[in-house]
Amino acid sequence: MDCIFCKIAAHEVSSDIVAEDEAAMVFKDIHPKAETHWLIVPKKHIHSVLSVESDDWPLVTSLIKKAAETARDQNINGYKLVFNVGREGGQMVDHIHLHLLAGKKIELP
Ligand code: AMP
Ligand code: ZN
Repeated sequence: MDCIFCKIAAHEVSSDIVAEDEAAMVFKDIHPKAETHWLIVPKKHIHSVLSVESDDWPLVTSLIKKAAETARDQNINGYKLVFNVGREGGQMVDHIHLHLLAGKKIELP
């Protein structure tokens, strides 16, 4: 499957990795919309919040935990968490991802 976030999660395409575990990867967005702009991405390919199967909800909700833990580790004390859902919701990459944005000038992604 030609999915850029699957390739990043498999280390086939390089990214600026902030954190990684067996289930998820946190890396810097290449077009940052804030001083700190990370993407929290599961290694499993799931298209979108629109298409989560019931078994995958724990994995999807674990992305919030991963974002919070990584922010705490990096001493980031306040941030926005954003899921863009579907084209009409601004989702351009069809592999589910959570945006974390922090810093003074935050634009919504
Ligand atoms: P969305 O509009 O919610 O689908 O967000 C996709 C995000 O992925 C955008 O903010 C892009 O800047 C970012 N992005 C796309 N390709 C890459 C990449 N190769 N490495 C890091 N970020 C990327
Ligand atoms: Zn994928």
